[in-house]
Amino acid sequence: MAATSLLSAASKRLQGKVALITGGASGIGACTARVFAHHGAKVVIADIQDELGQSVSESIGPNCTYVHCDVTDESQVKNAVDKAAIIDGKLDIMFNNAGNSDEKKPRIIDNDKADFESILRLNVTGVFLGIKHASQVMIPRRSGCILSTASVASNVGGGATHAYACSKHAVVGLTKNAAVELGQFGIRVNCLSPFGVATPLASRVSGIEEEQEIENSVASLANLKHVILKAEDIANGALFLASDEGRYVSGHNILIDGGFSIANPSSH
Ligand code: NAD
Repeated sequence: MAATSLLSAASKRLQGKVALITGGASGIGACTARVFAHHGAKVVIADIQDELGQSVSESIGPNCTYVHCDVTDESQVKNAVDKAAIIDGKLDIMFNNAGNSDEKKPRIIDNDKADFESILRLNVTGVFLGIKHASQVMIPRRSGCILSTASVASNVGGGATHAYACSKHAVVGLTKNAAVELGQFGIRVNCLSPFGVATPLASRVSGIEEEQEIENSVASLANLKHVILKAEDIANGALFLASDEGRYVSGHNILIDGGFSIANPSSH
């Protein structure tokens, strides 16, 4: 299904809500910002790519703003949360989506400690800081939804590099613990695990520049071979979890992978 028809399909499911999306300048985050704003949310995009983030925010419209935020820096995460919370005196949705997998040495036996730790700092510490500061704002209101982007690499081994897989398994662990800790305050915590989506990250990791080539290669590995996975599919998963329709879902890792990770490898 085309992206535009996915966007225009439904009513305003996030009317009155305020959302902060890290890594919102590109790929899955930018698409989710667009979908959330389309559904009535006031969206704050947080990223380190200032020019791109500003232009994505302007293209979405007056209900979207941009804030510089390196998610590995606690003061910047707190600042981004405060900037979002000041809009309407609350933060309804925190989407910890910033992440990366640019690893110079993908094999465990020759990876450097510093490179391993830098992936964990972005993909895990960044999520921890997002959960921590968002929940501090959400707890007094006894309400909130925290989402993070994990990956199919949170569920299978060998589908990505070791540091990335380790970091995404950790996102699931953080999600489950935070859901248990924060449920008493009416805060739901979930994560989403996409299969391959044609984004700048996927191009860098796969070495494939052509969007369609990435999409076809992903489709060939999924069970749903005739459906092309788009960033909108991840955004729509986030939309369900963030909206009132997802009000009884907490602590889960929602795999949006066309059945990839449940299949016997011989069936691919
Ligand atoms: P992307 O490169 O298009 O977007 C990632 C964004 O994160 C970029 O705008 C980047 O500037 C931002 N970012 C990087 N470091 C940051 C930092 N320190 N602080 C704040 N922002 C930072 O990639 P994407 O594919 O849209 O990735 C989004 C998330 O989805 C990541 O967590 C990634 O691991 C996950 N994911 C992607 C895929 C895929 O196939 N594309 C699959 C599974 C999971």
